[in-house]
Amino acid sequence: MIVTIDGPAGSGKSTAAKLLAEKLGFFHLDTGAIYRSIAYIAKKKGILWDNEEGVADIAGSLDIDFRVENGTRKVYANGEDVTELIRLPEISTGSSDVAKLKKVREALVDVQRRFAESRNIVAEGRDMGTVIFPYADIKFYLDASIEIRAKRRQLELRLKGIEADFDKVLEDARKRDLQDSKRDVAPLRMAEDAILINTDNIGIDEMVELLYAEVKKRWK
Ligand code: C5P
Repeated sequence: MIVTIDGPAGSGKSTAAKLLAEKLGFFHLDTGAIYRSIAYIAKKKGILWDNEEGVADIAGSLDIDFRVENGTRKVYANGEDVTELIRLPEISTGSSDVAKLKKVREALVDVQRRFAESRNIVAEGRDMGTVIFPYADIKFYLDASIEIRAKRRQLELRLKGIEADFDKVLEDARKRDLQDSKRDVAPLRMAEDAILINTDNIGIDEMVELLYAEVKKRWK
């Protein structure tokens, strides 16, 4: 079974996808972590984020692995533990830059689909229900107001020991939203057959229950 969760940054999709996957016993595919890893590797290699050929080479040869170590989810890119490194604000910007590139997205289609071979998954990202898994069994689109999403992002950074100015976080979120939804290839948009959930006023437990109930309706 394939469950997709799309939505903008801060919509709650990452937390929802993680908890829903745990509750269902499904594999959790965090595709944002793939774009983030590519941006991180490009930076490390001194390849500019707008260098389409250079970044596509990285995407084409990327070895990405999601593991659970002592109960904690880890992301490995080309053998390196990048779990924390890819969450830095600079890499958020870079991930959105590399995600605009057609050749990069093309190189990643099969990489992402392979994760769904012979297992049940919850796949989260921007184009899961529209491009990567258009035949998914159930699709969700999570959204929230930009202020709420920026507040969540600020809190997330604070928990990591990074004190960020709210206006700056809001501005970054606005820029990334615009770039993600206006790009030519696989822009962020809701699939026609997706279930829309506004997460402004619901807590995470309630949100996961809601998603779980919808999945259960279709999963015998
Ligand atoms: O979800 P997350 O914020 O980690 O994603 C980082 C960036 O990767 C997004 O801003 C977006 O540009 C890109 N992305 C994408 N398609 C996906 C997942 C993420 O374009 N399926």
